[in-house]
Amino acid sequence: TGSALLIDGKRASERMLASIAEKAQILINGGIKPGLAVILVGEDPASQVYVKSKGHTAVACGFHSVQHDLPVSTTEEEILDLIARLNADPTIHGILMQLPLPGGADPTRIIESIAPSKDVDGLHPLNAGLLAVGNFHRALIPCTPAGCVHLLDQTAAELGVDLAGAEAVVVGRSNLVGKPIAQLLLARNATVTLAHSKSRDLPAIISRADLLVAAVGRPEMIRGNWIKPGAIVLDVGINRLPAEGLTASGKPKSRLVGDVAREEALTRAAAITPVPGGVGPMTIAMLMANTLRAAEAYAGL
Ligand code: NDP
Repeated sequence: TGSALLIDGKRASERMLASIAEKAQILINGGIKPGLAVILVGEDPASQVYVKSKGHTAVACGFHSVQHDLPVSTTEEEILDLIARLNADPTIHGILMQLPLPGGADPTRIIESIAPSKDVDGLHPLNAGLLAVGNFHRALIPCTPAGCVHLLDQTAAELGVDLAGAEAVVVGRSNLVGKPIAQLLLARNATVTLAHSKSRDLPAIISRADLLVAAVGRPEMIRGNWIKPGAIVLDVGINRLPAEGLTASGKPKSRLVGDVAREEALTRAAAITPVPGGVGPMTIAMLMANTLRAAEAYAGL
């Protein structure tokens, strides 16, 4: 038993953001400033943290960044109106609706109202379809899956692992994470199994995986002894657990853990993404990459 390589998502994301800022400058010099609009409905603290960090990162890349904070009472029609205005706004190239949506608004209707060319979350059925048929050049690909495969490609190259023919198991089948990751792995010629809450004998399925992606949302559900020795593990889960003590501002402390029992996994896997500091930072970098691509496409590049 060794100790797995910790895949440094923060470092990878910083490198990517530096290159995005350079490319953005070229567009800006040509008169087009990439613009990202983020819509947040309600006051979910986790969503507020994500949205703030997206805005900061956009500004750090040299982008035009707008945030629309709407009260929880906002109706679906009001959100659709705002999106229609952003669709028509030439200074905005990317629109992100922060999910989950509180209240009664229908997320499907809202996602489908975003112009596919500005759909930087990659959730519009046109982008999902382009990904499904393998048109990676035209599709805007969801950020977390794109970030995962970026880290995977880098790690596989570092370890000398060939993804073609590898057994890949993805646990979780959401439209945002599990399903698009499975498609990207298929495009790398892995043999992909998509597992979910109805799968029978998850430990047996996982034990076959040369490459394991956990996107479930259950703290440390995947145990170390389920993992095939030498596997590459991408832990997408972000679960907040209570921790001992109080913060400086007197609130109860919390800590983040993934879907994989990390300490146990470290003794089995060849490489694993830590939580936090793995897939999370790459997700934001990929949002900037998608916004840049959308702006470049707008510029006719
Ligand atoms: P969803 O809740 O939409 O999907 C969870 C998936 O896990 C479902 O497909 C569900 O199966 C499956 N599942 C639930 N319980 C089990 C179980 N006991 N055994 C096997 N499968 C199970 O979540 P998301 O896909 O949106 O997110 C997954 C995790 O990733 C969350 O922790 C989230 O916080 C995190 N996340 C992290 C991001 C990042 O930036 N790093 C970005 C987005 C998400 P079924 O379909 O049958 O219900």
